[in-house]
Amino acid sequence: MERTIFDEEHDLFRDSWRKFVEKEIAPHHDAWERDGVVSRDLFTAAGALGFLGMAAPTELGGGGVDDFRYNLIISEEIQRAGVAGSGLGITLHNDICLPYFLSLTTPEQQARWVPGICSGELVTAVAMTEPGMGSDLAGMKTTAIRDGDDYVVNGSKTFITNGINADLVITAVKTDPTQRHKGMSLLIIERGTDGFERGRNLEKVGLHAQDTAELFFTDAHVPVANLLAGPEGTDGEGQGFLHLVKNLPQERLSIAMSAVAAAAQAVAWTLEYTKDRQAFGQPVASFQNSRFWLAEMTTEVQVAQVFIDRCVTELNAGRLTAEEAAMAKWWCTELQKRVVDTCVQLHGGYGYMLEYPIARSYVDARTQTIYGGTTEIMKEIIGRSLGV
Ligand SMILES: Cc1cc2nc3c(=O)[nH]c(=O)nc-3n(C[C@H](O)[C@H](O)[C@H](O)COP(=O)(O)OP(=O)(O)OC[C@H]3O[C@@H](n4cnc5c(N)ncnc54)[C@H](O)[C@@H]3O)c2cc1C
Repeated sequence: MERTIFDEEHDLFRDSWRKFVEKEIAPHHDAWERDGVVSRDLFTAAGALGFLGMAAPTELGGGGVDDFRYNLIISEEIQRAGVAGSGLGITLHNDICLPYFLSLTTPEQQARWVPGICSGELVTAVAMTEPGMGSDLAGMKTTAIRDGDDYVVNGSKTFITNGINADLVITAVKTDPTQRHKGMSLLIIERGTDGFERGRNLEKVGLHAQDTAELFFTDAHVPVANLLAGPEGTDGEGQGFLHLVKNLPQERLSIAMSAVAAAAQAVAWTLEYTKDRQAFGQPVASFQNSRFWLAEMTTEVQVAQVFIDRCVTELNAGRLTAEEAAMAKWWCTELQKRVVDTCVQLHGGYGYMLEYPIARSYVDARTQTIYGGTTEIMKEIIGRSLGV
C-alpha cells in the first residue's frame, strides 16, 4: 500500500539521512556495541548536518520545522540499517527530550541549552525511573529541597538512556516529598554539577551500543533557574507530573514507530534469507508454513504502518491523545516481539547467531514493551479512558 504522508522534501531528507547512517553509524556499530556506548562525535556529526533539533527554531540552531515525519524517517532508516543500539540515543534526544526544552523553558533557558542540543554538543537524557520505582512514577523518592537560589537534590535514578553521554538530564524530583503527583517537578541537572555522579553503564540483554546508566545525586546543588516552567509563565514547581503526562504520548509514538520499522526490516531480512536457504531440496520460503508466516507478518506490519502514519499525522495536528499513543505503543511493540521471534525461527540456527542481523534485532526488541511505560500500563491508560 503506497504511503501518502511524505512530500518531496521528506524523500530528500530520507536520502541524506540514509547516507549518514551508512557512512557515520553502520561502520562503527559493532565497535560501539562492544564499547557499550556510541562516540559523542556521532551527535556533533548529526548536528552539523541538521539531523538534530529539527523542531527547534532556526534562530536557536534548529531546523525550524515542527514535523514529526522527519523523526519517523530517522527512526525508519536506523531500523533499516540494523543499528538500533547506536540510533536510540539520537531518537531519544530528538523525539523525547527536545520537546521539554522547547515547550517548558523560559527564553533564557532556551538560549542556554537549545543551540547546544541542536549542534550535538549537549546530549540529553530524561531520568524518571529509580531503583525502587518505575511504573508508579508518583512514588519516586528523589528529593529536591529549596535552599535559597538552589535546590538540594538527593536520590538516585536507574536505567537512564544516554546516561553516560548526557550533559543535560531532565530529572523528575519531589520538591514536596509529602505529596505524590502534586509534589513532582522537573529539573535540568547538568554535567559537572557537584554531587551528581554516574554509576555503572548497565549490561543489557540487547541495545548494547546504547549507554543505559545509573545516576546518583548527593547534596547536589541545582540552581532554581534550572527548573522547568509551568504553563503561562508559572514557575513549574509541583507541575512535573503534568509535564510528563503532556510529553509521554510523543515518547510512546516514537517507540511505536521504531517497533513497526524494526518489524518490517525483520520480515525483509527473513524473506531474503528463506528464499535463498534450501531444505529438502527446496527454498525454506516455499514451505506452506513459511509462506503463511511471511504472509501473516507482512499483513500485520502493513496494518500497523497505516496506524503509525495516521498517529504521526494526528501528532503533527496536535490531536494525538494519550490513549491513542498508548494503543500504538503496546500493540506495535508486542507485534515487533512476535515478528522478530518468528523471523528467528525461520532462520533456523543462523537466527541465533549475532553475525545475522535478525539475532541482534531479536535481543534489541525485548525492551520495547517495557521502557516508555510497559504494555500493562498502556492497557491501564486505555482501560481507564473506557471508564473501567
Ligand atoms: C533499556 C531501558 C532503557 C530505559 N530508559 C529509561 C530512561 O531513559 N529514563 C527513564 O526514566 N527510565 C528508563 N527506563 C526504565 C523503564 O521506563 C522502566 O523499566 C519501566 O517503566 C518499568 O518500570 P520498572 O522497571 O520499575 O517495572 P515495575 O514498575 O516494577 O513493573 C514490573 C512489572 O509489574 C507490572 N505492573 C506495574 N504496575 C502495574 C499495574 N498497575 N497493573 C499491572 N501491571 C503492573 C509492569 O507492567 C511490569 O510487568 C529504561 C528501561 C530499560 C530496560
